[in-house]
Amino acid sequence: MQQLVIIGGGIHGSALAMRLAEQGFRDLVILDSTPPLARWLKTTPCLVGDMLRSPWDANIDPRDDIPEALRASTADLAGFNRHVVDLRDKYRLNSLWMRGTVKKIAPRFNSAGFVVETENQRLRAEQVVIACGLGNPHMPFDAKDDRIRHADSCNFDDIRKGSEVAIIGGSITGLTIATELARRGAVPTVLHRGEIHTSQLEVAPEWRPIPGAERFQYFLKQTAGKRSQLLHQCRQFGTVTNHVLDKAKSAGVTIKTNTPVLSWKKQRGKIVLFGSSDNKIGAFDYVLCATGYKGGISLVPCLSRIQPRIDLVDDLPVLTRQLESSVTGLYFLGRLAELGLGPLGRNIIGAKVGSKIISKAILDAQ
Ligand SMILES: Cc1cc2nc3c(=O)[nH]c(=O)nc-3n(C[C@H](O)[C@H](O)[C@H](O)COP(=O)(O)OP(=O)(O)OC[C@H]3O[C@@H](n4cnc5c(N)ncnc54)[C@H](O)[C@@H]3O)c2cc1C
Repeated sequence: MQQLVIIGGGIHGSALAMRLAEQGFRDLVILDSTPPLARWLKTTPCLVGDMLRSPWDANIDPRDDIPEALRASTADLAGFNRHVVDLRDKYRLNSLWMRGTVKKIAPRFNSAGFVVETENQRLRAEQVVIACGLGNPHMPFDAKDDRIRHADSCNFDDIRKGSEVAIIGGSITGLTIATELARRGAVPTVLHRGEIHTSQLEVAPEWRPIPGAERFQYFLKQTAGKRSQLLHQCRQFGTVTNHVLDKAKSAGVTIKTNTPVLSWKKQRGKIVLFGSSDNKIGAFDYVLCATGYKGGISLVPCLSRIQPRIDLVDDLPVLTRQLESSVTGLYFLGRLAELGLGPLGRNIIGAKVGSKIISKAILDAQ
């Protein structure tokens, strides 16, 4: 019987495991199909660009013992990634990792705790933390052609010089990919459904000052319904920083605003994109969808069995101050913890604050 199973070894699950390891608690398993932090380290160089997006204290060191550069209002990605690799090795996270994708979580019959099932094993655990990320990549239409891909795949290496590439979505991810493709000699066009709005912040400015700890406390005091509304109001979805927009423009990226893409057809080997009333937008060799993620608990298949017992508001779990759901021993981190942590819950700062709260709860329960 395991004391704790953490589902997901991304920034959030890893931050929690490090914090517990730092306190000498290693009776835990991180379940993920890839080693801790591997996904972040693989995808961010192609999706994030040179600077981290959020100007909040970018560190997940439980001791807060970090280079000055990471306390700066904009930290560089390479520096942050060196920091997480150092921590991964220092806290020997790989030795806490078990390969597996969780298929089912069920309460144990007639006793406290959970049974966690992956494709090839069954674990029993006293407590479970769900840290499985932002959700499923969202596609704007059915895409049965391997030249139409979601940005999350980071699968761009076969795109040759001179290829015409549509990037659907003019957020930071879309513009960053377009800039990189232009640098490689491809011909990228960003198609954005509205105007492009610039902002230095991913969430409304009142969530500053760095690191916004008082705001986290404030958020924990609101009622769940009000919090859900606030989440939508204050996250500035689709905004980009001036830095990212300027780089795209100077790389020669074409940006078409107010151009929603609704459907596509294959014509003479090209992918032709259409907007409303079937108006043709253009013909491309590749289409990359930088169209975000679909979140919510109902889209997490491994929770389907236990979900009826979890209190929800707008498909997010209602959480206690310890980030525990209405199922005793089942905790949430990251995007699914936003009703507890606020709109920065999914970000790096959310991993830091959330892992502090949950590690304390786990250690107190011992
Ligand atoms: C392109 C991009 C750039 C970002 N840049 C920044 C930034 O600069 N600053 C910032 O603060 N935030 C940023 N964010 C937001 C946030 O910090 C990241 O999304 C972060 O990676 C979230 O970490 P996570 O651990 O919640 O999720 P993830 O990194 O997605 O990790 C979740 C893990 O769970 C695993 N998993 C999922 N389901 C299961 C299952 N059933 N069983 C086992 N394992 C499972 C996955 O394999 C994955 O490894 C960015 C997000 C994106 C998408």
